[in-house]
Amino acid sequence: MTTAQKTIGLLALQGDFDAHKKVFEGLGWRTAEVRTKQDLNRVNALVIPGGESTTLGKLLARIGLDTNIKQRAALGMPLFGTCAGMIMLANRIQDRPEQPSLQLMDIVVARNAFGRQVESFETDIPFRLAREENTIVHGVFIRAPYVTEFGAGVEVLSLFRDKVVAVRQDSRLAIAFHPELTDDNRVHAYFARMVEESADA
Ligand code: GLN
Repeated sequence: MTTAQKTIGLLALQGDFDAHKKVFEGLGWRTAEVRTKQDLNRVNALVIPGGESTTLGKLLARIGLDTNIKQRAALGMPLFGTCAGMIMLANRIQDRPEQPSLQLMDIVVARNAFGRQVESFETDIPFRLAREENTIVHGVFIRAPYVTEFGAGVEVLSLFRDKVVAVRQDSRLAIAFHPELTDDNRVHAYFARMVEESADA
């Protein structure tokens, strides 16, 4: 399928999905908001935006969308989580074993991990947008998580002060900060290439 035929879905239960939508549309992609199982059936990829991961988890479970997302992910549907979305993709949330997540990436994340003093901040950070090549992106961190443990299949794309803040595992991308809140669309273009390359129908 070509870019023109594929649709990038935005999980639209809560959080800043609209900012992602605008970036992908600016890159020429068709997008659709996802609130139901039927919506999910019509998209070829899913963005899980920032927001509040406890609320997001509860809403997903109530609708039963968590099961459907896991089914589609098993068939290869690309996923992109930012901030709360990264938390949702993690196998485990540090110190909160009771908090549900989708368990789709071999990572453990700590929530609100940068501490109260620096809850929200912006900084330029290196990001591995292409193999062997680090570029600088602007990172907007809002009560952000970071990755505390990751498995062998996980590629680290960005580190900030030795903390892992962006990872990829196969067709799944998780980022602790908010590239959708800058006017730099390269991280979204990176995910869009993952969607182009994916075989998911
Ligand atoms: N702190 C939020 C959480 O733990 C995530 C914040 C965000 O998505 N900007 O769910």
